[in-house]
Amino acid sequence: MNKLSPAKILIVDDTPANITLLSEILEKKGYQISAARDGEKAIKIADHTQPDLILLDIMMPIMDGFETCQQLKSQTNTKDIPIIFISAKTEMNDLVTAFSVGGVDYINKPFHEDEVNSRIINQLQIRNLHQQLTTSELNMRNLLTNYQFQSDRLQHIVDHVVDAIIEISISGSIQFANPAVEKLFGYPVEELMTVDFSQLLAEPFASLYDEFFETSLLEGEQGYFSGDKIFEITAKRKDGSEFPIDFSFMKISTGKEMYLAVIHDITVHKDKEEKFRSLSNIDPLTNLANRRHFEEVFAKEWLQSRRDNTQIAFIMIDIDYFKPFNDTYGHQVGDDCLKQVAASLSNNAKRPSDMIARIGGEEFAVLLPDTSQEGAVKIAEQLRTDIQALDIPHSGSNYKAVTISLGVAITDNSDQTHSSAKLYQMADEALYEAKNSGRNCYRITTSN
Ligand SMILES: [Mg+2]
Repeated sequence: MNKLSPAKILIVDDTPANITLLSEILEKKGYQISAARDGEKAIKIADHTQPDLILLDIMMPIMDGFETCQQLKSQTNTKDIPIIFISAKTEMNDLVTAFSVGGVDYINKPFHEDEVNSRIINQLQIRNLHQQLTTSELNMRNLLTNYQFQSDRLQHIVDHVVDAIIEISISGSIQFANPAVEKLFGYPVEELMTVDFSQLLAEPFASLYDEFFETSLLEGEQGYFSGDKIFEITAKRKDGSEFPIDFSFMKISTGKEMYLAVIHDITVHKDKEEKFRSLSNIDPLTNLANRRHFEEVFAKEWLQSRRDNTQIAFIMIDIDYFKPFNDTYGHQVGDDCLKQVAASLSNNAKRPSDMIARIGGEEFAVLLPDTSQEGAVKIAEQLRTDIQALDIPHSGSNYKAVTISLGVAITDNSDQTHSSAKLYQMADEALYEAKNSGRNCYRITTSN
C-alpha cells in the first residue's frame, strides 16, 4: 500500500451476501476489492494480485479458513499478507486457532461498519509500518555491506602499498603503521608502537621534528613540518643506515586529531639523479671535469679563498702543435693522446681540493686552492716533464714528442679588486708567453 494507489483487499466467504455487504462497506472507503468464494480460489487470487489485506471466513466447505490461512502462510509470495478472520458468534471458540495459524485479528458477524473499518485501518497501518521497517532494514544491511567492502578495500590498499603510512597521535607517539613501515625501517610493527617517530628520522630532521611537536603544541603549527607539503629528507633504519625519502606530514581529523605521515623511499631516484649529475659534470673522452663544472668549482673556491685569505694557483695548459698532430696521425690517435695527457695530469692532482679539467679541445686547466707561487711553479714543472716523459711521437714538434705549454697565475690577496676573471686572464697571458718562448715550458704572471 502506498499513498498513490488504494489498498487492495481480498474478501473470502462462501456466502455471497457477506461478500456483497463487506464490499459495499469497503468500497465506500475507496479500497480496491476482489473476492473469492472458496479457499482454493482465494490462494490463487492472493498469489496473483498480492492484496494488502485478506478478510477470511472461517466456516467454508471443502477448505475452511484455517487451512486456507495455513497454505497462504506457507507460501513465500503470500506469507506476509495480513489476514483478518470473519467469525460468527458460534465460532468464537475457534479464535485461539485463528491466531495460532497466523491470523492477525477477527471481525464478528453480523458486521458493524465502524468496527470493520477500524480493524482494517489498524491492520493496514501495521502492514505499512512493517513494510517501512523492512525497507529500512534492507537499506541498513546494504549500507553495512558497502561499508565492509570499502573498509576491506582500504585495508587492502594500506597493507600492500609500497609507501609507509604512519599515524601519529597529537602527543607524537606512533598509533598505527602499515606493513611497508616494517620493510622500509626494519622494525617489527609491534616494536614501532613503542618507538618515538623521531627515531625514524636522521639528523637534523629528527631534532627539527621534536622541535615541531614541542612548539606546535604550545603555539600552533609552525616550522619545518607544518603544512601539507612534501619534503625530501633523510630517514634512518633500525640498523642505523640512512636513506632518502619523500615525506608528507599532515594533520587529519577522524573523530580525534591525528597526524598522518606518508613516506616514500626515493633511493633509486636519488641514485639516478646523482649519476646524471656526475655525468653532466664530466668530459666523456678524458673523464676529467668539464668546463662547466670547472667554472662552478672555481667560483666556489674563489669565494672560499677570499674568506680564508689564502692564495689560489691557476694553471692553464695547451698541448703544443696539436692541430698538426691530428693532421698527421688522425683523430683517433689524437683522442688517445688527449686521454694519455689527461691521465698524466691527473696523477699530479694529489689533494682532494686540487682539480684538473678539460676546458677546450686540447686545453686543460688546473686549480690548486691554498697554494703558494713556489708550490704552483713546482707542480707546473712536474706536469710539463711528465708529459714529455710519456714520449708520444710527434714528428711535427721540435721535441719529436708531444709536449705542453703552461701559464701559471696566482691570486694577489693585497689587491681587493682582484677577481677570478682577472686570474683567468693572467693565466691566459702567461700561457701565450710560454707559447712565444718556444713551447714545452711554463711562464708565470703575477699581478705585481
Ligand atoms: Mg461461511
